[in-house]
Amino acid sequence: MISFQNQTVLVTGGAMGIGLATAHLMARHGARVALLDVDGARLAHAAEALGVHGNEVLILPADVSSSADCDRAVRQCQARFGGIDHLVHCAGIYPEALVKDTSDADWQRLMHINLNGTFYLCRAVQPALRDGGSVVLLASLAAHRGSHAHAAYAAAKGAILSFSRSLALELAPRVRVNAVSPGIIATSMTRDLLGQKGAQLLASTPLGRHGSAEDIAGAIAFLCSPLAAFITGETLQVNGGIYLS
Ligand code: NAD
Repeated sequence: MISFQNQTVLVTGGAMGIGLATAHLMARHGARVALLDVDGARLAHAAEALGVHGNEVLILPADVSSSADCDRAVRQCQARFGGIDHLVHCAGIYPEALVKDTSDADWQRLMHINLNGTFYLCRAVQPALRDGGSVVLLASLAAHRGSHAHAAYAAAKGAILSFSRSLALELAPRVRVNAVSPGIIATSMTRDLLGQKGAQLLASTPLGRHGSAEDIAGAIAFLCSPLAAFITGETLQVNGGIYLS
């Protein structure tokens, strides 16, 4: 039911995890993919794996905390593909620290990557976005519930929720803007957390398993697709029901 044939998706944080799973899913349904990530080596490896779908893949080594990098990456993507249909912004970090142990530099680094990067990309991509396109931003369960020892992360994700709703107003009716709030998803980002609290988190997840990157990719692809043509300014929570417990 979903086709991204002749469409281009720019996926940030595309070298692994949720970004890479989304790139695979959308490429499998016909999308041309531009993969952006700060990890150049992993990016090249990811692009090679994406080649199996037979579509064009562009790699964009870039740091989303640099507005110049974001501007350049969008220009390169537009030059190669002529325009962008979807921005899926997954790049982010998840450092653990209590507020009392968070230095000014720690706080600012997180805000630069997780929040400023969102602004830089969403600003840069606007002129390149084709009519009928969409933006999907990654928030988190932490934005809704708070998260012990991740206050800076939760604060940035909360800001992304209100930013996405505001941007949805600015870009309507030409482009839809939505957010996805994953719960506990097994990627490298949560390896330590799952090592420490995996069993406890599983016990409070009604669907009885941790989420996979593919679970989130499905929600993102849905929001980019015509099946979500009347959805904008919305947040889709994907967490196996953990929010209920
Ligand atoms: P991940 O660590 O597997 O992947 C994140 C990617 O972002 C990596 O490839 C990394 O190199 C890239 N990245 C980091 N800093 C960057 C920068 N400055 N510029 C460009 N790229 C950068 O993480 P994931 O689990 O796939 O998470 C993807 C998104 O989903 C993140 O925004 C994360 O906050 C959000 N999220 C994840 C979970 C989870 O449980 N995994 C839960 C809620 C929200």
